[in-house]
Amino acid sequence: MKTYQADEKGYYGEFGGAYIPEMLYPNTEELRQNYIRIMEEPSFKKEFDQLLKDYIGRPTPLYFADRLSRKYNTKIYLKREDLCHTGAHKVNNTIGQILMAKKLGKNRIIAETGAGQHGVATATVCALMGIECIVYMGEIDIARQAPNVARMKMLGAEVRPALSGSRTLKDATNEAIRDWINNPVDTHYIIGSVVGPHPYPDMVARFQSVISEEIKWQLKEKEGRENPDYVVACVGGGSNAAGAFYHYLDIPEVGIIAVEAAGKGIDSGESAATSALGKVGIIHGSKTLLMQTNDGQITEPYSISAGLDYPGVGPMHANLFASGRGEFISITDDDAMNAGLLLSKMEGIIPAIESSHALAILEHRKFKPEDIVVINLSGRGDKDLNNYIEYFNL
Ligand SMILES: *Cc1c(COP(=O)(O)O)cnc(C)c1O
Repeated sequence: MKTYQADEKGYYGEFGGAYIPEMLYPNTEELRQNYIRIMEEPSFKKEFDQLLKDYIGRPTPLYFADRLSRKYNTKIYLKREDLCHTGAHKVNNTIGQILMAKKLGKNRIIAETGAGQHGVATATVCALMGIECIVYMGEIDIARQAPNVARMKMLGAEVRPALSGSRTLKDATNEAIRDWINNPVDTHYIIGSVVGPHPYPDMVARFQSVISEEIKWQLKEKEGRENPDYVVACVGGGSNAAGAFYHYLDIPEVGIIAVEAAGKGIDSGESAATSALGKVGIIHGSKTLLMQTNDGQITEPYSISAGLDYPGVGPMHANLFASGRGEFISITDDDAMNAGLLLSKMEGIIPAIESSHALAILEHRKFKPEDIVVINLSGRGDKDLNNYIEYFNL
């Protein structure tokens, strides 16, 4: 049967795999050989499920947005990942990976972060487990993201500045990889999205798949069927989308809609719409679609939402795009901001700007009145308040 899941080597169609320097091979190989076995151990499952429930606050509600549904004349459900502890879906993955690290006997965690959200989610679970945590972050990002730097410090993490190159996310990633090569025995590297070499995309997707696992039984309870007509999510690296799509990937009746950040417009030169602008290439150890110049240099992405300005996209999503299984829509900064304000006023929920991109498709894409559309609300908007204030002159 044709599947949109990863194969044993971590390929989704032609995308994925593990294109890594030889020095990193022992690290990813140890993880590759063990991750599925560990995730299937009853003791692992039990501890993971318990923490999802008692620490993160799962299951998150599947909320029928009545006023929004009437406005757009279709049935809209919001999957409330914004109600997770720390305010977004990212912690589903970091909880899973810290338990994985413990099972592998690791006592030191490293991570990289751009805007700081993944750094905070990682520092959180390290505090929970009493494990040493080092977060690499570009010097420029440290200056731009002071509140998240403060959060990480309060949580006991060490924030190490990346001082080379453009001093942003990709330089922090290089530093983290260098650290991991030098500390292969005691250290686990927690990657924050469905990106990187195999087995990361598949492992992270499996941890996030709790999102669609819950949607299935919640929708059954509310509508008498497990399958919506459409499931919609924003895509940066693609982890919240992978979680929302996971159990629907191989069910063709369920439409999959991935929403990317068009920034100031696809043709403006300031965008992060990877499917529209990207070409096949290799980034962070994975073959995927990425934004690059004609001679293969990675282009700086831009979006008003820090979580979506990644120049690539996870290999699962590259394959959903290339195969036509997924519908890809890109949304500008302006449209996303307005959708965020609309949800606030109509439903009393202030969304993260990333999630606002997913909501914004309602203005662009017609659905039938009887369609059930599930939109993954990946995070809450508190972190974005300054952006909203500036944009709307609040
Ligand atoms: C980080 C983040 C994203 C983007 O990351 P994905 O891996 O694509 O999910 C989306 N929404 C929120 C709220 C985030 O914090």
